[in-house]
Amino acid sequence: MAHSVYPEIAPTDPAGQTRKEFATDQDVRWCPGCGDYSILAQVQRMLPSLAIPRENYVFISGIGCSSRFPYYMDTYGMHSIHGRAPAIATGVKSANPNLSVWMVTGDGDGLSIGGNHFMHVLRRNVDIKLLMFNNRIYGLTKGQYSPTSPVGKRAKSTPMGSIDHPVDPAGLALGAGATFVARTFDTHVKHIQAILKRGADHKGTAFVEIYQNCPIFNDNEFISLTDKSTKADTVLELEHGKPMIFGKLKDKGIALDDKGHPIVVDVEAHGEDKLLVHDEEDLTVALILSQMGQNGLPTPIGVLRAVKRPTYDEMMQEQVETAQAGPKNSVQDLLDMGQWTVE
Ligand code: SF4
Ligand code: MG
Repeated sequence: MAHSVYPEIAPTDPAGQTRKEFATDQDVRWCPGCGDYSILAQVQRMLPSLAIPRENYVFISGIGCSSRFPYYMDTYGMHSIHGRAPAIATGVKSANPNLSVWMVTGDGDGLSIGGNHFMHVLRRNVDIKLLMFNNRIYGLTKGQYSPTSPVGKRAKSTPMGSIDHPVDPAGLALGAGATFVARTFDTHVKHIQAILKRGADHKGTAFVEIYQNCPIFNDNEFISLTDKSTKADTVLELEHGKPMIFGKLKDKGIALDDKGHPIVVDVEAHGEDKLLVHDEEDLTVALILSQMGQNGLPTPIGVLRAVKRPTYDEMMQEQVETAQAGPKNSVQDLLDMGQWTVE
C-alpha cells in the first residue's frame, strides 16, 4: 500500500463543489489589507465552475508571500523551493496529465530567482496555470526592490533609488513564446474571475500577471489603475475583436501612428474604424500592448494573447506511448549494443 505524508482528499462530486470546500482550516497569514486575500477568494470562487473534482487539483508554489497559497487551498499542493516551482509543476503535469496543475509565484520568485525556469515553462507550453502576483517588491524579506520595481524605487536595499531597468513580465512571457498571456488586478473581482476562467480553459501554459497591492512595503503602487476617480482613463480593458476604446466617456482610443507606435486619439475625430482592433492571436498586437502603460498610454488588462500550440505533456505522453508500442529491449540488450571507448 502506498504511503503518503499528505492527507488524502476524499473523492468529491464536481457538480456539487462550492467555494468553501476549497478553503482549508489554516489561519491565513498575510498582512491585513494584503491583495493576496482577494486573489485567494477569487480563485476559490472560480474553481467550482470548472467542474473538476477537487482531488484532481494541485497547487504548487515557490517562496515568498504569494507562495503561502497552497496552505490555504484544500487541494493537493506543494510549497516548494525558491524559483523552482515551474520545474516541479512540469514534473507533476507530465507524470499525470489528468491533474489540473496551478502554479503560484511572485515577481521576485518568478522573475529573479526563478527567471530561468519561468522562460522554459512558457516556451515548452506545459499545460499549467501560472499565476504571478506582481507587487513590484520583495514582501516576505521585508521590502527590497524586485525585478519589476521601477527605476528610482527607494526601498531597503536601494536607499538612493533603484538604478535597474525593470522586467516587463508580459513582454518577457511573449518573447519566451507563451501561448496565453493575461493581466488583471487583485481587487477587480469580476475581471480576475473571468481571466482566471479563461486561463483555466486554455490548453497550455496560461500566464496570468496579477497586479497585487502590498500595503506594508509598497502601498498604492497601482493606485492610479485601481482608484475610481482615475481608472477609467488609465486602464484599457481588452476585448477580442473590438476596437481599443477607454476613458470615462469612452471617447479615447488607441491607434497606430505612421511609425507603427501606439498613440491615444479622440475616437470621434479619428474615426472608430481606424482604431487598433484587439486580436488575441496577433503577436504584434500583444507585443504593442505589453509595452503600454507609460508615456500617457493606458495599461491594458485582459487577455493579451491566446493561441493554440501542442502542449509539452501531450507530446511527451505520445512519445512514451510510441516507445511502449515499439520493440521491447532489455537492459542487457542495451549493454550488448556496444561500448564507448575513451582513448
Ligand atoms: Fe502581503 Fe506585502 Fe504583507 Fe507580503 S508583506 S503578506 S505582500 S502585505
Ligand atoms: Mg513581490
